[in-house]
Amino acid sequence: MNIVVVGAGLAAANAVDELREQGHTGDIVVVGEEQYVPYERPPLSKGLLLGSDEPDSVFVHDREWYDERDVDLRVSTPATAIDLDRRRVRLGAEEVPYDRLLLATGAQPRHLPMADSSGAPVVHLRTLDEALTLRDRLTEGSRIAIIGAGWIGLEVASAARQRGAEVTVLESAPLPLQRVLGDELATVFADLHREHGVDLRLGVSVSGVEHDDGAAVVRLEDVEPVVADLLLVAVGVTPSDSLAAAGGLAVDNGVLVDARLRTSDPHVLAAGDVANHDHPALGGRVRVEHWDTAIQHGRHAARVMLGEDEPYTRLPYFFTDQYDLGMEYVGHPGPEGYDDLVVRGDLAARQGSVLWLRGDRVVAGMHLNDWDAIDPLRAVVGRPASDAVRDPKVPLAELG
Ligand SMILES: Cc1cc2nc3c(=O)[nH]c(=O)nc-3n(C[C@H](O)[C@H](O)[C@H](O)COP(=O)(O)OP(=O)(O)OC[C@H]3O[C@@H](n4cnc5c(N)ncnc54)[C@H](O)[C@@H]3O)c2cc1C
Repeated sequence: MNIVVVGAGLAAANAVDELREQGHTGDIVVVGEEQYVPYERPPLSKGLLLGSDEPDSVFVHDREWYDERDVDLRVSTPATAIDLDRRRVRLGAEEVPYDRLLLATGAQPRHLPMADSSGAPVVHLRTLDEALTLRDRLTEGSRIAIIGAGWIGLEVASAARQRGAEVTVLESAPLPLQRVLGDELATVFADLHREHGVDLRLGVSVSGVEHDDGAAVVRLEDVEPVVADLLLVAVGVTPSDSLAAAGGLAVDNGVLVDARLRTSDPHVLAAGDVANHDHPALGGRVRVEHWDTAIQHGRHAARVMLGEDEPYTRLPYFFTDQYDLGMEYVGHPGPEGYDDLVVRGDLAARQGSVLWLRGDRVVAGMHLNDWDAIDPLRAVVGRPASDAVRDPKVPLAELG
């Protein structure tokens, strides 16, 4: 069986690893449009910017690892079309046949046309090259403005402050991360950044971006503009699903996959940021843009390509590191949100754990600087919200 993987990122690297671990001896071709072998993106907004991680440390495996496993890994090679009827992937003038195709094309940053067309120094952060450019610009006393107080915007703010840059973060919502975490936890992140000297401007609306003598001038409605040496636009990502759509696969905010990560074509699967998954444990579709999902999707898709018939049921998980705050989160409240929050520990001290409840269920859990808590959190998310769960005096470890 010939397997072709399009996209050479985290999901792809893990799919290949699993395929060989499971004993697949057929051909594997991986094509990636970037010039690098697959790499981890989380360090790009953390250790790489801080200088504690070297660029060489981000690669999932080195080139030899793929050669030793007889994986035909082609970098700087964009897939340009898929022919579902003939089961071929086109790479410019060349065609590669497949028996099974895995789409792992990830996502790309949303752009603001007003920033792109301004001629001002504007950057985005998705690739290693973009991270290296950003790292060189985060110098002592440099002024950086960030549009968007999501995970990437806040992680870059943290790294930039630690490098001595002056940081202004502009966010239209009343709190950072409010949609994901709710008011109580969003306030923890707002306080954290303000304590570290970030000029965090919430509820602001960017009306224009201009270029003035090498600087970016960010115009805001009703208030003075922000002037910066560099503007990072961090307003989320869109799934890289145009190849799939053009090939005729069902696409809607990502490539639509069933519980087993199979697309609308029985020979094609999708994994990672690009996959809009019909998640059996969450009772609906979810497209997760996190590290752990890319790894586990990649491995699961590999086993399904080899004939396994199990749905993917793992709950979404993510982590962040900002200043001295490390946290991990598991679960997915979804658009319905939550109606209760149970805090074990001290949010102001940024120590402890939190459970989000909706109706009679625990829908998500998170810890702040309590690394032993993630296993008990995983055990309780999805379970009934019992009296013990609701009682903050009952230790987390006793709930699982
Ligand atoms: C700066 C940053 C920090 C992050 N930090 C965290 C974190 O702290 N915690 C967390 O949980 N998650 C984090 N994430 C998210 C996590 O990195 C992603 O969820 C993960 O990388 C997704 O993996 P993927 O394999 O689906 O896609 P990607 O890693 O995006 O890989 C997809 C690859 O496919 C390539 N490609 C696309 N189209 C084609 C084509 N037509 N032909 C060939 N190649 C193509 C792309 O160029 C890309 O190299 C972070 C992401 C970024 C950008």
